[in-house]
Amino acid sequence: MHYDYLVVGAGIFGAVFAHEMKKQGKSSLVIDKRSHIAGNIYTEAVNDIQVHKYGAHIFHTSDKEVWDYVQQFAHFNHYVNSPLAVFEDELYNLPFNMNTFSKMWGIRTPEEAKRIIDSQIAEAGITEPRNLEEQAVSLVGYDVYRKLIEGYTRKQWGRECRELPSFIIKRLPLRFVYDNNYFNDPYQGIPEGGYTQIVGKMLEGTTVLLNTEYKAFINDSAKSGKDTFGKVLYTGMIDAYYDYCYGALEYRSLRFEEEILEDCDNYQGNAVVNYTEWKIPYTRIIEHKHFEFGKGKGTVITREYPAAWQKGDEPYYPVNNEENNALYQKYKELADKESGVIFGGRLGQYRYFDMDQVVRCALDMVKKETCS
Ligand code: UDP
Repeated sequence: MHYDYLVVGAGIFGAVFAHEMKKQGKSSLVIDKRSHIAGNIYTEAVNDIQVHKYGAHIFHTSDKEVWDYVQQFAHFNHYVNSPLAVFEDELYNLPFNMNTFSKMWGIRTPEEAKRIIDSQIAEAGITEPRNLEEQAVSLVGYDVYRKLIEGYTRKQWGRECRELPSFIIKRLPLRFVYDNNYFNDPYQGIPEGGYTQIVGKMLEGTTVLLNTEYKAFINDSAKSGKDTFGKVLYTGMIDAYYDYCYGALEYRSLRFEEEILEDCDNYQGNAVVNYTEWKIPYTRIIEHKHFEFGKGKGTVITREYPAAWQKGDEPYYPVNNEENNALYQKYKELADKESGVIFGGRLGQYRYFDMDQVVRCALDMVKKETCS
């Protein structure tokens, strides 16, 4: 059988791509090494609660076209992410806003908060932030940095804040109003019934082979000559694709500990609670039912433990510091020379993408492919 595309990875990038290509009359065969579709946005019902098996995914975007696009595949509820942060015996609202500052310093007005932050920034004497620590201190001052950022970030990334790029902390809003919405985007929600159905709908009418590893599959099909492909879309790790010929890119991994609490209907009163101190080994506890305002009996919680990544582990986060970005550029140069393979997604493009950016890139790639 001849397919126009072999899509490697049944995550959101591959699914959008295959779906859109199908609409253009182009066929895809989608393969994935896992036993399920949907990549890291995979959700599964546990006691009627949609559990985010690979960490919490909250869809948020400023891109109206992307928002309208995903509405075709599910109804999104009005969930607004408002995480809490626990530091020792203190509880704070996130992102950094007047609720956080009021609790931290016992103040009420934006002017008071700004005055404290400005004096802490002046004390730190940072003019041009060169790393995450300097960026964080120069945004929110030393107290917020020490209680809510330093320990969490060290756990999350397994290195000192001074050794991390500043863009990571710029993901979080900073506001001088009482607003606990974690995102600045105008569109936000959780798909009722979970994410897996979205990818399932995108892949309707497309052949998907699960438990299928790319290299073994390619070798087999080369030998048997059974299937042929016009082009490959590869959404796995770009360095693995090239057998790490320039060395391995760094990633950060995660370990999830899921607990079903039959006798507890509401464990923490919020979907996301971060644990910002260094000595607690997990970064956050997710209580999944709150993503869908669940009222039923029992609850499911997941503790998220950051983990070092080694070859063979699940790569969750690219570590986009200068060294890794430079190494990625070398792989990208190889990729740019390929005529039959294109790379996409968090792993294929080695970028700390959010879901909406993945959808946007996949739609743009379809346009590029169909125009060329
Ligand atoms: N962060 C922090 N304290 C928190 C939450 C986040 O210091 O309580 C920092 C941390 O460096 C983290 C970054 O902000 O890596 C980005 O957080 P985000 O919630 O966007 O990460 P994700 O949900 O992608 O893991």
